[in-house]
Amino acid sequence: MIGGNTQGGSIHEFYLPKNTPRLPTVTHGEGIYLYTSDGRKLLDGSSGPIAINVGYGNNRIISALHDQAAKTPFASYRSFETSANVELSDKLCSLCGPGYDRAFFVSGGSEAIECCIKLLRNWAVAKGEPKRWKIISRMPSYHGSTLGALSITGDPVAHEMYGPMMASQPKVPTPFTYRIPSPFTTPAEYSAECLRQLEATIVSEGPETILGFIMEPVGGLATGALVAPDAYCKGVRELCYKYKIILVFDEVMTGAGRTGKFLAAHWWPDAKPDVVVMAKGLSSGYIPLGAVVAPNWIVQTITDKMGGFNHGHTYTSTPLQCAVASACLDVLIDDGLMENCCRMGDELLSTLLAVQSRTKTVGDVRGKGLLMAVEIVKDSDTKEMWDMGVRAAYRIATKAEARGVVLYVRVTANGAFGQWIMVAPPLIVTKSEIEFIGNVIEESVKEFELEMGL
Ligand code: PLP
Repeated sequence: MIGGNTQGGSIHEFYLPKNTPRLPTVTHGEGIYLYTSDGRKLLDGSSGPIAINVGYGNNRIISALHDQAAKTPFASYRSFETSANVELSDKLCSLCGPGYDRAFFVSGGSEAIECCIKLLRNWAVAKGEPKRWKIISRMPSYHGSTLGALSITGDPVAHEMYGPMMASQPKVPTPFTYRIPSPFTTPAEYSAECLRQLEATIVSEGPETILGFIMEPVGGLATGALVAPDAYCKGVRELCYKYKIILVFDEVMTGAGRTGKFLAAHWWPDAKPDVVVMAKGLSSGYIPLGAVVAPNWIVQTITDKMGGFNHGHTYTSTPLQCAVASACLDVLIDDGLMENCCRMGDELLSTLLAVQSRTKTVGDVRGKGLLMAVEIVKDSDTKEMWDMGVRAAYRIATKAEARGVVLYVRVTANGAFGQWIMVAPPLIVTKSEIEFIGNVIEESVKEFELEMGL
């Protein structure tokens, strides 16, 4: 089982010295399986932290990595271009579609979020509007663990743990439609209320100070694959146009085919974000990589007024990163993985709904494509949450791992938002593997229920 972030309860420790192992040792991966030194074969039911979109041991990607490493792994982006950089940028912008003209590559999701914040701020300064710097985000949400990204993340416990955060980044509620706060009774009513609160926040903060609004179109660990309602997305887009706010979709988890389209944004054509942030599936774990994809009207303003975007790291846009990600995108397209994701996503949904119908503690099944989650509750009729101390989702995931399926889980602090198990296998998963995942989850949930006397 893979622990969540700061609230998950499984703390990511510094490594212990040799010969004091605590976690299973992985020897290799193949397809959707990981093999351990004690002879176990584990189905990776959450693609690591929902990153290994194309699966392990893909020879085409491994060859691309070898070839580029032999040519040159590195050529400083400040002085050079390589065909690998240009090829990836062209492929990525074309897969994102019209209006996404320029890509900037960094080493992961949090760094890409930081890069996005700086890009927007740089744009505001270039336009002569330096007072426009606030980014509205949602509660709950997750945008990364570096301080800037954490500041826009909607996670009160992490803010307390690492505060003070970057000054005043306003938060508005995420339309968490599984648990609708009173007096609202339907998802539509509550979504409308969330939009109302977004507009009220823009107005009270001063529209002239608001630079961007960021959201995950389908949530990750923070909300357990919560899908943004259609009318909400459309309403967000309209508000951003109305107040000249840049709409950013954090597609770190959802991008690169995870929901069955290249971007999750492609499911909401009338809510097209101005900027998208990606990572994870873009390089499928074969190399660290994140990207910000932006329109010309942002990037060119910065170039015209300031001579270029003054941002970067040592590992910005290395040819090795780019060649590997380029091969990942080729595999995604040539092997029809988004099509498989749509088909297998339907299978997974019906499998998990069947598990829900035969168990007592699966309160909700939600998600899109192969980004799904099951929310674990004490009582599925009342939606009452388990106390955090029961660690229900962890216990179920531990039982699943003993049966051969590794799953990524989240237990929010003090049960504030709930607990869930992410079910998001690599996009190459087959129907029989989905059946196996469903059986393992069902047996594990039932064993937990027995332990709890349910
Ligand atoms: N944004 C979202 C939606 C994520 O799910 C994550 C990671 O889980 C991040 C940002 C941060 O990405 P990384 O862990 O690569 O820094």
